[in-house]
Amino acid sequence: MKGREPAKVEIQCPACGREAWLVRKPKYDGFTKVGETLTCALCAHEFASESEVPFRGSRQPQVFTAADRPRPVQVFREDEKGRMCRYCAEYVVNPFIQRCGLHKCEVQATDTCPHFRPKPPPKEEAENETPGPFRL
Ligand SMILES: [Zn+2]
Repeated sequence: MKGREPAKVEIQCPACGREAWLVRKPKYDGFTKVGETLTCALCAHEFASESEVPFRGSRQPQVFTAADRPRPVQVFREDEKGRMCRYCAEYVVNPFIQRCGLHKCEVQATDTCPHFRPKPPPKEEAENETPGPFRL
């Protein structure tokens, strides 16, 4: 036994289109529990009821559609730190667990992974990279 681990219920979220997991929170009316909210852990999409939740039953590897496929990433300088999970686009954090969205396993922020792909920068990618006249 390795401590308490929240049961993760895997879903295929229709809102964000990702493989995510379900977040259950009790819903209170005053002090009376009146039900649960069911939300997607990744995009916080709320499901009206349990029957709406697109559970993923099997654990078999998902076949990626073309749209899901990570785009080839352009040069990421050989920076050791650059390959850590915490900088990876697949790295997902919630209050209980850090997770690799690609391998669907628990990871540490400092793990490194051969399938690392850098998290996209917060800004939209530079639109027009004008070839600078300064290039040597
Ligand atoms: Zn979602």
